[in-house]
Amino acid sequence: MLPKADDLLNKVYGFDTYRGQQEQIIEHVIAGGNAFVLMPTGSGKSLCYQIPSLCREGVGVVVSPLIALMQDQIQALALLGVKAESINSNKSAEANNSAIQKMLAGELDMVYVAPERLLTEEFLGLLKQVKVALFAIDEAHCVSQWGHDFRPHYTRLAELAKLFPDIPRIALTATADAPTRKDIVERLHLKQGRTFVSGFDRPNIHYSILPKNNPRQQILDFIKETYLGKSGIIYCGTRSLTEETAEWFKNKGLNVLAYHAGMTKEARQANQRKFQNEDNVIMAATIAFGMGIDKPDVRFVAHLSLPRNIEAYYQETGRAGRDGMPAHALLLYGLSDVVMQSRFIDEANTEDHQKRIEHQKLNALLGLCEAACCRRQIILEYFSDTCSACGNCDNCDNPPETFDATIVAQKAMSCVYRTGQRFGVTYLIDVLLGKTDERMRKFGHHKITTFGIGIEYDKVRWQDVYRQLVTQNLLMVDMTAHGGLKLTLKGMNALKTREIIYLRKHKKLSKSKKKIEKATFANPVDEALFEELRKKRLQIAKNLQVAPFIIFHDTTLREMAVHKPNTLNEMATIKGMGERKLTDYGAAFLEVIKGRDQYIT
Ligand code: ZN
Repeated sequence: MLPKADDLLNKVYGFDTYRGQQEQIIEHVIAGGNAFVLMPTGSGKSLCYQIPSLCREGVGVVVSPLIALMQDQIQALALLGVKAESINSNKSAEANNSAIQKMLAGELDMVYVAPERLLTEEFLGLLKQVKVALFAIDEAHCVSQWGHDFRPHYTRLAELAKLFPDIPRIALTATADAPTRKDIVERLHLKQGRTFVSGFDRPNIHYSILPKNNPRQQILDFIKETYLGKSGIIYCGTRSLTEETAEWFKNKGLNVLAYHAGMTKEARQANQRKFQNEDNVIMAATIAFGMGIDKPDVRFVAHLSLPRNIEAYYQETGRAGRDGMPAHALLLYGLSDVVMQSRFIDEANTEDHQKRIEHQKLNALLGLCEAACCRRQIILEYFSDTCSACGNCDNCDNPPETFDATIVAQKAMSCVYRTGQRFGVTYLIDVLLGKTDERMRKFGHHKITTFGIGIEYDKVRWQDVYRQLVTQNLLMVDMTAHGGLKLTLKGMNALKTREIIYLRKHKKLSKSKKKIEKATFANPVDEALFEELRKKRLQIAKNLQVAPFIIFHDTTLREMAVHKPNTLNEMATIKGMGERKLTDYGAAFLEVIKGRDQYIT
């Protein structure tokens, strides 16, 4: 007899209830329906095809673009007692053959393959010889050219509809804007099926966006304040910045590694493995780092350089807090970042029309950076989603104050005008502060009316003013003049008419983490016990040569540290404790909990 979905959820995965739309999706697919599923990262996407695979007769075929992701899933399923194998080019011919034999003998619950292999005549021939439970197409945005990670082989997956008309197909992704979604459904012939869109919100991620002011120190203070000894990612704009940043933080005593595409494959893989398998590694990385990382307990993502646009920001910050526990995204930005991103866009080998789109997207991101309202609202609106003020971002915690900055803005803009609209911020500020040097004397700028009229502010405050004038579209970065500033039409009008201009006051990082943790756990977590449970987990993971989160997520350990089960029966009620894991590891963790009680009494 085939198992029931609810029993599997409880016995195999150790959960009492479904999350979000999981239940409707699972029912729909078990009944043989096709589906397109958009679900944010960390909300239990894989259960949507794993449970139907187990409930339906035959083997579930999962299409995944990355070998690393396949391997994580296979290991995790093995510990749950589910029989799954991957067939991929990283494995030996014997190992692949043995997996195929198992599949043909009906011994596998699930098989993971890349689209390239699935669509070979040989593999399709094998599938014709077995009963297939379903096809799951993971990372389905790869099918669309609108998506951010197009893979030509994905488009051929449409053939499955013709070759296996009676087998349900479910396509899943975490990031796709409206045109991409439509494209995926059309290309994969899923129109007859149902679409499940769960929204984009990642409520456990706290967003903070601050102007740069000694940025490494800002990040160091942030880590020390909240996340010392935890895993995190620091995104850096260039390879050399990645290396320098790793070095700087190492000198401050933190466990920071570097990752970028210029390193050898071996060095990159070694660092990635450490990040994945240890509890407290921080990765200083370019955006080359991220694809194929499925670590659930990344506690923070900090940006030392501005991302390309809001989609990139959402995707990169989305690597934090996949386990649903409180996590933090911190973005630091300055005018030099705006100049750098504008330059990337202008120097890229793309059509003018594409460049215009990219500039608009960058402007939308700058709007988010300078916003005085809830950050989450802006991010979700960008994806045509909505929420009320979230109470979990820096602007909600500590609403920014604005002030009438007409006079300072006039000074700053008129300095741009009087120096001929071609100089960068550093020079303009020197003029405002009345600093003479050879260059200034050469141009005669020590004699103009704006020379020395800005001594009421220091350099940092003036940088703040110029950055905000650029993001308010009063000034623009002129790439034909090597990143010098010039007035926009709007700015020219504002200057002439002495229009009232408001700017944001300078703001410090708010401290809100404690509030979040309290809200998430009604019962206090015994932090010392939690740390001991983490140690036990690390020890088991090392023996098995798997990442610790594959044994248990932090959420499961935290539940143990709250409820402190005394017996295996009590242990069975902990979320994430399925039958197989209870048998294999329940006693070991029980011992940690009991051992500690004896020690205290
Ligand atoms: Zn908010």
